[in-house]
Amino acid sequence: LFSGPITFLKSAPTLDFLPDMAVNEVAFAGRSNVGKSSLLNALTNRNGLARTSNTPGRTQELNFFDVGDPLRFRLVDMPGYGYAKAPKDLVKKWRFLVNDYLRGRAALKRALVLIDSRHGIKDVDTDMLDMLDGAAVSYRIVLTKADKIKASELAAVTQRTADAIRKRPAAHPEIIATSSEKGMGIPELRAAVLEAVSQ
Ligand code: GDP
Repeated sequence: LFSGPITFLKSAPTLDFLPDMAVNEVAFAGRSNVGKSSLLNALTNRNGLARTSNTPGRTQELNFFDVGDPLRFRLVDMPGYGYAKAPKDLVKKWRFLVNDYLRGRAALKRALVLIDSRHGIKDVDTDMLDMLDGAAVSYRIVLTKADKIKASELAAVTQRTADAIRKRPAAHPEIIATSSEKGMGIPELRAAVLEAVSQ
């Protein structure tokens, strides 16, 4: 499926622009600069599907991608969060858009929440996890940029992250460590996406 057709469907800057719920969806969330675009490109094995942005905090839309012909499921690129310099009204807009999407989307089967493996879960991530738990949207943590740290450090951050989500109701207990740069964890990520949309 990931080597077949994957096409950009549309951007939704507000809920009025959401596509129909024709098929199941998996959404990708994470702080600005966490490596979300790189991971989406590695996942789908194409460069430039999700555009890597030089101006973090700028894109405030949900981007929908159709996978498969005939259509099998959709990938949703959620707007990045936690950009320190983002104006307050933009942060507010982000919160309304994301919260409304999460709460009203029966087609959304799982969110993949990207966490930089050098930093672990930060306060802004906790905020995102709270929104997901509050909306009862199942989610799974994906560590990014694992090539940037030693194996022992990766083991430690994985353990810490697993401990941090243990009591969260909508969290999947297993964590996937990835590196878009090295292709690490990409097969596991593909399997996780397929598993999520197949339920
Ligand atoms: P986004 O803002 O979350 O979409 O993040 P990007 O995908 O644009 O990546 C942010 C920066 O991190 C870029 O400079 C990427 O080259 C870098 N990056 C992303 N993924 C990896 C990775 O797996 N390993 C390394 N070393 N760098 C990465």
